[in-house]
Amino acid sequence: MILVYTEHNEGQFSKKTLEALSYAKAMSDKVVALAINAADVTVLQTYGADKILSVSSDQLRDFSVKHYVALLLQAAEKEQATTILLPSSANTRYLAPVLAVKWGAAYLSNVSSLPKDGKVQKVVFSSKAIAWLPLEQKQVITLAGNATEIKQAPVQAEVEAFTPVLSEDTIKVVGTEKFTNKVSIDDASIVVSGGRGMQTPDNWHIVEDLADALGAATACTKPVSDMGWRPHSEHIGQTGKPLSCDLYIALGVSGAIQHIAGVNASKVKVVINSDPEAPFFKAADYGIVGDLFEVVPRLTEKIKQLHS
Ligand SMILES: Cc1cc2nc3c(=O)[nH]c(=O)nc-3n(C[C@H](O)[C@H](O)[C@H](O)COP(=O)(O)OP(=O)(O)OC[C@H]3O[C@@H](n4cnc5c(N)ncnc54)[C@H](O)[C@@H]3O)c2cc1C
Repeated sequence: MILVYTEHNEGQFSKKTLEALSYAKAMSDKVVALAINAADVTVLQTYGADKILSVSSDQLRDFSVKHYVALLLQAAEKEQATTILLPSSANTRYLAPVLAVKWGAAYLSNVSSLPKDGKVQKVVFSSKAIAWLPLEQKQVITLAGNATEIKQAPVQAEVEAFTPVLSEDTIKVVGTEKFTNKVSIDDASIVVSGGRGMQTPDNWHIVEDLADALGAATACTKPVSDMGWRPHSEHIGQTGKPLSCDLYIALGVSGAIQHIAGVNASKVKVVINSDPEAPFFKAADYGIVGDLFEVVPRLTEKIKQLHS
């Protein structure tokens, strides 16, 4: 039995959560989804959850590794899970390894394939190589974005209210930062990012206009978020959010090794840079050598015309 940890933003379950459910359904006949403070969980049965544990708790309103690990351990024990599957996200990067240790299970991170001959695939060395990892009797798996297609598998799920036993809060959350980007990077199939070549934060409407025309999320390089031009939630790369989207467009980004390491798993990479020697052109599928302030508004206009 597979227990799937689900994530939602104000009731909207993430694309990676639906991918995780489809993955679990392909792996096992019995899939139990765990939903935390979600008003409507019915969509989970459309994607194959045979049973839904619906948790409602003020203590779980803000992410806390301690409470979320306790919840998952109790849910796993109750359902006698042999695998706990989590979509890869900023939170599960912290949650999953701690969970594996506490559960006494193997930890298979960033998995990118269904099991074959008792093994699963993951990309390693910044997407330069593939490793095969053996499945064990008990494991925690985090699933890379875009590792599997979302497939509907409607079932009539049993929905059960589940109340975990949680210890007292030791950390008080004093505030949370709301992401300003309309499409979240985690869920986006297209991402448009800007680097230092954007010159000032006042020019960011160029990135946003192109992203809006494509229905894409916006992102940025590390120095851009370090300088406070953009929020840290938009920082992508080796030390930021890893990308594995369908189309990644980089504007005024040089393509330093630490940036490419985190975006290399994206299927198609397009680079717009005025310097023909910029290292990113070597990693890109398509490149435009040109001044982004001339090229990008024209590109955005063309895309808008195609959609109108
Ligand atoms: C330990 C460590 C971890 C790091 N982690 C990350 C990470 O996770 N993510 C990350 O992004 N970086 C990371 N970095 C930083 C990385 O090394 C680079 O410094 C950074 O990616 C460069 O950002 P940039 O491309 O925005 O800026 P720059 O390297 O300054 O590049 C700007 C580019 O804009 C182009 N440009 C300028 N004007 C125009 C114009 N008008 N039109 C078109 N193009 C123009 C230039 O030709 C240039 O190529 C890390 C560094 C270290 C040491």
